[in-house]
Amino acid sequence: MELKICHLYPDVLNLYGDTGNILCMRQRLSWRGIDSGVTRVCVGETLDLSDCDLLLIGGGQDFEQEVLLPDLCSGKAETLRSAIEDGICVLAICGGYQMLGQYYETWQGLRCDFVGALDLYTVGSQQRMIGNTVYRFRNTDGSESSIVGFENHSGKTWLAEGVEPLARVEVGFGNNGEDGTEGVHYRNVFGTYSHGPLLPKNPVFCDLLLRTALERRYGKADLIPLDDSAEQEAHDAMLRRLRKA
Ligand code: GLN
Repeated sequence: MELKICHLYPDVLNLYGDTGNILCMRQRLSWRGIDSGVTRVCVGETLDLSDCDLLLIGGGQDFEQEVLLPDLCSGKAETLRSAIEDGICVLAICGGYQMLGQYYETWQGLRCDFVGALDLYTVGSQQRMIGNTVYRFRNTDGSESSIVGFENHSGKTWLAEGVEPLARVEVGFGNNGEDGTEGVHYRNVFGTYSHGPLLPKNPVFCDLLLRTALERRYGKADLIPLDDSAEQEAHDAMLRRLRKA
């Protein structure tokens, strides 16, 4: 068994070590004897997702997102839209998440069209939403767990009617600091404002991504349980700290 991972824009969108999410996914696969490979697609390079199982897009500053716009519109946007409709598993972090939406409007009113794969949009604000976060997340088996992370964004993201958030905010701002939603879950796309990197301290969520990708490629996913005591202690230490605050 093998999973093929694509890292889009590792050269530009890697704020707060989002690449660590790939290291975490590969290690949790390796501990289970499952191989994985990573294809890095930088600005100006061709994006081919036809044989990809998992796509990571990290976060970046407004400037970096603006730099990427021409490259996105050079064919990558269409590739992303069709791969997402085809069910590819995506982890999109902050700026990478915003860019899968319809558009980004700066607080001065300049509107940049983005990929248009997700029915959401982002409006820049003069408020910086920054700090540690705790989100309540419902797993596919109906169980609820927490996601701990770190956010730093000025964009406020609004989901269209009927678009499911990834989680609900317990501590932090989430999508916009107003409606209590965090991120998005659309088909197999998981968008979130959580940097960190996100996955090492959230093993349940990491395994959900791996299971989703394995089931899509192989029809089933037997992820043997791992000893997550260290990861869980790191997770719980943040919960204790943030719930006391
Ligand atoms: N530049 C975007 C914003 O500030 C995304 C930031 C990020 O990726 N951390 O909202």
